[in-house]
Amino acid sequence: MGSEYEGRSAAEVVAGMKERFASGKTRIFQWRVAQLKAIVRMIDEKEDEIAAAIYEDLAKSRTEACLQEIALAKDACLFTLKKLKHWVKPQKVSTSILTFPSTAQIVPEPFGVILIISAWNYPFLLSIEPVIGAIAAGNTVVLKPSEVAPSTSSFFAKVLPKYVDNSCIRVLEGSASETSELLEQKWDKIMYTGNPRVARIVMAAAAKHLTPVILELGGKCPLIVDSNIDLKVAAKRIVVGKWGSNSGQACIAPDYIITTKSFAAKLVDALKIALQKFYGKDPLQSTDLSRIVNIRHFARLRNLLEDEKVSGKIVYGGLQDEKDLKIAPTILLDVPCDALMMEEEIFGPLLPIVTVDDLGQSFDIINSKEKPLAAYLFTRDQRLEENFVKTVSAGGMLINDTILQFTNRHLPFGGVGESGMGFYHGKFSFDAFSHKKAVLRRCFIVEIPMRYPPYTPQKQKVVRGLMSGNVLPLLHALIRKTYLALRPPHSTSQFHLIGKDWSNHYE
Ligand code: NAD
Repeated sequence: MGSEYEGRSAAEVVAGMKERFASGKTRIFQWRVAQLKAIVRMIDEKEDEIAAAIYEDLAKSRTEACLQEIALAKDACLFTLKKLKHWVKPQKVSTSILTFPSTAQIVPEPFGVILIISAWNYPFLLSIEPVIGAIAAGNTVVLKPSEVAPSTSSFFAKVLPKYVDNSCIRVLEGSASETSELLEQKWDKIMYTGNPRVARIVMAAAAKHLTPVILELGGKCPLIVDSNIDLKVAAKRIVVGKWGSNSGQACIAPDYIITTKSFAAKLVDALKIALQKFYGKDPLQSTDLSRIVNIRHFARLRNLLEDEKVSGKIVYGGLQDEKDLKIAPTILLDVPCDALMMEEEIFGPLLPIVTVDDLGQSFDIINSKEKPLAAYLFTRDQRLEENFVKTVSAGGMLINDTILQFTNRHLPFGGVGESGMGFYHGKFSFDAFSHKKAVLRRCFIVEIPMRYPPYTPQKQKVVRGLMSGNVLPLLHALIRKTYLALRPPHSTSQFHLIGKDWSNHYE
């Protein structure tokens, strides 16, 4: 027996969404704008409820939830509302001599019915931002929030339908089994945010229907620290990017640091000062640190700390409170590359530091692992910076700060390799949910003779000329054809160009 959504099966829900899409309602510009405005209204009117739901799921502080989720979601919506009328316009592009005369356009069209499966760590933003993109592009959309953040999931199920057109924008709650059922349906595009293991399940299900996918995944985001920096500023930025981002449970939080053996102790001292300033002497009591999402993840993180390869490596933190699911910010120094926490994504408040003799070695360490979603470097050395950008492959990078790349609406956000495929944010979200339809328009006045059989040696010569970049014979042919089409009837005048009679050359 499959799941039911208000008495309807997953297949019936999708069939209904397809009908709604076929009716053309979601393509109407005013409909899209009305939905986006309604989302802004929901964020304004329900900010308290949203923050409370995020708090229940993660004990994330109100300020952090506002800064990193609620405000960003509102900004994404307002930005889309401001730009949408330009994005929906067909884009004129140049044409080639081969199609002369013609006009060419790229017309964005919605894919149809979109499935968005989101993750628990930024449960509000990671759900609503893709929905904004899908609506802006004119699709119908089903959102499946993460069951691992049940309060935010329930908020979406209860509140979103009160604001938006529920016949075209649906929230379906559920866990792995319900999601598997949804994945059996034929969607026009699927966006999945989560881990690479489930991403493979999503992609395999999508392949059955040749459905395109966007996979927003994670990985081990490296952070290289040079010794020539403003250490006080750098330490604050590292701490807020790691522990101030959902206690390290963020896909772009720095996962590990690489620095030189000679600089490591100074860096650790600066991090300790910043940590104490931000979270006090007993960080387990700080209301500014999120908790670990559930006991399964808590046990996973404890297991990383119990690995004998990191025994004696903790230089700060390490305290745990299983009852409240809290782990204090923890720094480990001189962690070997074969430690468990260097082999998998940490996704929590543990920060290993790997030390090297020369920072040049850090590129090899990074490149020996799967491509990360984000890579960070703190330096004043321009050559190192250039090498970093050139040598390291990552979804995105940020120099001399952490996580802020995520907030720039003009930068695409997405992974590469194991950290994902496809990207969104700003106009990229609109593009992610739009098919780019190529439209070429011609009229009847000019014919290009050599495209039609019989293919004579002369025609072949023109084609060869074209292939080597010589358009002159073709130009002559086109001008002659135009001349013949436009000349007065019964005119007997010869057709001479550059001293040559071309009149019978291409017939
Ligand atoms: P999760 O447990 O919330 O799972 C994500 C979604 O997958 C959920 O909606 C869940 O219902 C669904 N799911 C789980 N098992 C499934 C199955 N067997 N079949 C079908 N669907 C299933 O989140 P998670 O995977 O723990 O998320 C953490 C990972 O996500 C990390 O690797 C992190 O780096 C990554 N992440 C990436 C981004 C990004 O934007 N690139 C953002 C957040 C998290």
